[in-house]
Amino acid sequence: RERELRRSNDKLQKALRETRELAITDALTGLHNRRYLWELLGRELLKSRRNRTPVAAILADIDHFKRFNDTWGHEAGDLVLKRVADVIREHVRGSDIGCRYGGEELAVVLPETTLEVAVERAERIRLGIAGLRLEHGGHPLDAITASFGIAIFPQHADNAEALLRAADEALYEAKKAGRNRVVVSQAAAAA
Ligand code: GH3
Ligand code: MG
Ligand code: MG
Repeated sequence: RERELRRSNDKLQKALRETRELAITDALTGLHNRRYLWELLGRELLKSRRNRTPVAAILADIDHFKRFNDTWGHEAGDLVLKRVADVIREHVRGSDIGCRYGGEELAVVLPETTLEVAVERAERIRLGIAGLRLEHGGHPLDAITASFGIAIFPQHADNAEALLRAADEALYEAKKAGRNRVVVSQAAAAA
């Protein structure tokens, strides 16, 4: 009787864990989703304030992805997103978290990471993406690139929204400057 109860309780716990995992995972890429990104940032910024360690946020956006979809089709575009997510997974270490921020926008949160290390990480991801050679339906696809914006808490922003905004502004500068590059935020955190 007791054993039965325990077993069904264990099953329930497992189902809950799986449900929670699904709720914070992006189905296409297997990266964490936007909801999780905000949760995570809230948690990490608290820790960062306590420990006086920086948190880096990298935002990446695939270049000319609309054109890519128009040329190769949406399915090929989805394949690109999956392989780009693989590149991100390859380059994040233990405590870093890769997320799908929006359609073709990806984010990496790097706790306890300095600007220099974040730039290096973004550069590696950028080169990894530019080096992808993909095929779809037996056809080689055009090479793709992505642009990156980086912001650091507390250097460039003093809360989660401001941090992502600063990274997004840097990303926009990377697009303007010709894409396929990494740009660091120029923002100054409100004192
Ligand atoms: P830019 O270099 O300025 O970023 O140009 P872009 O064309 O990438 O930017 P834009 O924001 O105009 O277009 C983003 C495109 O990304 C639109 C949409 O077709 C594509 N996209 C967004 N989400 C998905 C997805 O889940 N799958 C596929 N295949 N395409 C997607
Ligand atoms: Mg975009
Ligand atoms: Mg884009």
